[in-house]
Amino acid sequence: MAENNSESKKPVAKTRNFIHELVEKDIQEGKNTGRVHTRFPPEPNGYLHIGHAKAICLDFGTAEKFGGKCNLRFDDTNPTKEDVEYVDSIKEDIKWLGFDWEDRLYYASDFFDRLYDFAEQLIQEGKAYVDDQPADLISQQRGTPTKPGVESPYRKRSAEENLDLFRRMKAGEFKNGARVLRAKIDMTSPNMHMRDPLMYRINHAEHHRTGNKWCIYPMYDFAHGQCDYFEGITHSLCTLEFEIHRPLYNWFIDQLATDDYRPRQIEFSRLNLTYTMMSKRKLLYLVENDFVSGWDDPRMPTLSGMRRRGFTPESIRSLVEKVGITKTEGTIDVALLEHAVRDDLNKTAQRVMGVLNPLKVVITNYPEDKVEMVQAINNPEDESAGRRDVPFTRELYIERDDFMEEPPRKFFRLSPGKEVRLRYAYYVTCNEVIKDEAGEICELRCTYDPETRGGNSPDGRKVKGTLHWVSATEGVKAEIRLYDRLFNVENPAGEKEKEFTELLNPESLKVLPDCFVEPFLRSAKPLDQFQFERMGYFNIDKESTEEKLVINRTVTLRDNWSKQMNK
Ligand code: ATP
Ligand code: MG
Repeated sequence: MAENNSESKKPVAKTRNFIHELVEKDIQEGKNTGRVHTRFPPEPNGYLHIGHAKAICLDFGTAEKFGGKCNLRFDDTNPTKEDVEYVDSIKEDIKWLGFDWEDRLYYASDFFDRLYDFAEQLIQEGKAYVDDQPADLISQQRGTPTKPGVESPYRKRSAEENLDLFRRMKAGEFKNGARVLRAKIDMTSPNMHMRDPLMYRINHAEHHRTGNKWCIYPMYDFAHGQCDYFEGITHSLCTLEFEIHRPLYNWFIDQLATDDYRPRQIEFSRLNLTYTMMSKRKLLYLVENDFVSGWDDPRMPTLSGMRRRGFTPESIRSLVEKVGITKTEGTIDVALLEHAVRDDLNKTAQRVMGVLNPLKVVITNYPEDKVEMVQAINNPEDESAGRRDVPFTRELYIERDDFMEEPPRKFFRLSPGKEVRLRYAYYVTCNEVIKDEAGEICELRCTYDPETRGGNSPDGRKVKGTLHWVSATEGVKAEIRLYDRLFNVENPAGEKEKEFTELLNPESLKVLPDCFVEPFLRSAKPLDQFQFERMGYFNIDKESTEEKLVINRTVTLRDNWSKQMNK
C-alpha cells in the first residue's frame, strides 16, 4: 500500500495525450532549440476551481514530462476585478495540488512597460490607431461573422497624431471610455477578432501591483500572447474558446518577433462537472450574496472548497488523469470525482465510530460506572496503522436507523427481542423500547452477553447485524454537516429559462447538531480525515474549536445519491 501511495502522490502525467504528441514532435524537429516551457495563466479575479485543476495538471505535468519548466503568471490586466486575496489563494491552491513554479512567478503587469513600448511601435509603424468613438459604436461597426465591419473615421489618423493622443491617454488627460487604442488589421476579416481589436482602454483605477502608475490598461488579448513571448513560453496551452483568438495572437507576435522563436498555442476542452458550474462570475455572485458561506464553502467546485470538504489533491489529479485531454467538450459526472475521493481515502483514512442520529441504549446488566476499553482496528487496508482503544460503557448511542420496532423480514439490525453485535465489543439483545410523551422512541433497554467480548461468541452463535456505537458518557458531541449537490439540475449552466440561483438545491447543506463521536476525535485537528464506519468519509472543519467539534462529511461510503440514507 505504501508503495502504491507514494506513486499516486507524484504529480506526473502518466497518460499520453494529443498535446504530448505535438510537443514531442516539436522537440524532434528542434523547434525553439528543443525547449519545453509552459505556463499556467490565471486571472486573479476569483478562486481556482476544479476546471483550473485540469489546466494546472496539464501545464505543469507537460513541463515535467519533458524535463521543461512551467511558470505561474497572473494575467492581471483588469484592476477593477482583481485582488491580492485571489493571488494568495491561487498560489496556495496550486501548491496544495502538488505543483511548484519555483522562482518563476510572473504578472502580466511586470510587462506593462514593454507592452506600452510595443504599442508605440505599432503606432509608429501605422499598425495601431486611437479611436475616439464610444465602445458601443465601435462594437456595432464590427459587423457580424457574415457581414463585414465598417472602418472607423479615425482609422486614417497620422502616426504623429496617434502617438500624441496615446501619450496623452497614458498621461491621464482623458476620462474612462473617451478613447481607445486599436490595432489596424482588417475590418473585413471573416475572423471578428481581426477587425481592428482594442489594445488599450482608459481605466482610472488603482492596480494591486502597479498602484496608480497607469490609467490605461492593455486588453487581455493584447497582453496574453506577448507575455508568453516575453517569458519564453514554447507551448501555450489553453481552452478551446481561445482557438479563434489565435490568429490575432500570432499577428501581434509577428510584429514583435525578431527571430524564429514563437510560442505555440494549443487548445483543449474545458472540464465541466455535473450539478455545478465553473463560471467565476456566477460563483462570485453566490459568495457575495450569501448563497454559500464563502469561496471555500465545502459545496463549491473551488479547490479551496474541495480541500475544506476533505477531497484530496491525489483524487483530483487522478480524476483529471482519467478524464484525459481532448478537444471534445463534455461534462464529467461528479460521481466520478467522488469515486476517486473514496478510492484515495479508503487507503489512508483512519477508521472511527460516529453516530449521526443518536438513539440511546442502556445495557441494564452492565455495571454503572464501569469504563472498559475495547480494541478497534485503525485501518483494515493498512496493518501498520495499528489499533486503538474505544471506551465501552453502560449507556451508549447507536444510529436511530439501526433500530426498528416493527422490522420487515430482511431487517438484520436491532429490533425487540433480536440480538446484534456492537462492533469490537459485545452481542446485545433488545428487551424494552421506551417512548417519550409524543410517542417517539427515546431509549432502548438491552442486555449484553459478557461471553462475547471482542464481538465473537464462544458458542458459535451467529448474529447478522453489526452496529457502530459511541459511549454516551465518554463520547464527544459534535456538529456534523452533510453536503449534497449544490444545484438541483445536472447542467445548471445550460438552463437558460431560469435564474441560476433558482436552480440551487435548498437541501445542499444539512446540519446535524447533536452527533456523537468516539473520544479519539478530541485530539483531531482541522482537515484531519476519518472514515466513520458504515457512514462515510469525514474531516474536521476549520470552524472546530476546543468547545465545539465541527465535522464535514466528505462523501458517503458508496454512491447512494439515488436512495439517500439521510433524507
Ligand atoms: P474568466 O472568465 O475569468 O476568464 P477562466 O475560467 O477562463 O475565467 P482564467 O483565470 O482565465 O479563468 O483561467 C486560467 C487558465 O485556466 C486558462 O488557461 C483557462 O483556459 C484555464 N481554465 C479555466 N477554466 C477551465 C476549465 N473549466 N477547464 C480547463 N481549463 C480551464
Ligand atoms: Mg480566462
